[in-house]
Amino acid sequence: MVVRLVLFGRQGAGKGTQSSLLAEHFDAPHISTGDMLREVAADGSEVGRRVKDYIDQGLLIPDDTMLDVIRERFAHADVVAHGFLLDGFPRTLVQAQALLDHTPVDVAINLDVPEDIVLERLSSRRVCADCGRIYSLAVPPSNRWVCDTCGGRVTQREDDTPKAIAKRLATYTRETEPAIDFFAKAGLLVTVDGLGSPDVVARRLITAIDGRLVR
Ligand code: AMP
Repeated sequence: MVVRLVLFGRQGAGKGTQSSLLAEHFDAPHISTGDMLREVAADGSEVGRRVKDYIDQGLLIPDDTMLDVIRERFAHADVVAHGFLLDGFPRTLVQAQALLDHTPVDVAINLDVPEDIVLERLSSRRVCADCGRIYSLAVPPSNRWVCDTCGGRVTQREDDTPKAIAKRLATYTRETEPAIDFFAKAGLLVTVDGLGSPDVVARRLITAIDGRLVR
């Protein structure tokens, strides 16, 4: 079964957490372009240093580079066999158009959380540097700042500083909202309320997606 899903949402809306849950539920590869780019940024190469600069400043990687990254990922056997759950892509109108030129999409979801709430969530967010598991000041790992899943170090993302957060949210409004509109006009968008516990939001998302999937 091939399922092709796109998850939109402001930074801090819970996209990462929900993408993992949904990818498991629908048995589709979770493709987080942010995670892929953070891996490149950590490899110490010249390209890695450039990518890290963009990320730390809260700037988008240029569209051409992103399209190469996603094309390469789409050629892998897991995507061909199972489809995808895209988390963090597309982020611009150009990326949205290129995606729909390349492949059909079953459903695009806008995980809706108001800006004042995401601001609060982002400043308290902490992430495992090794496996990416997400915690917060309110819900930390059980053993100090050691990840419950993999034992990695749990820290604050370098782009979760107030300055980078403000820039990323402004970029979301300017660059990503036109991409969301594009999916709405294509009749593929469902907006889902992202407020509530992860389980409650996951159930809402699954119901919304099931309502749209033609099985
Ligand atoms: P995320 O973890 O999704 O918030 O992504 C972290 C950072 O990676 C973003 O702030 C951008 O710098 C970069 N990034 C991730 N996905 C994209 C994309 N589709 N287009 C451009 N830049 C991206």
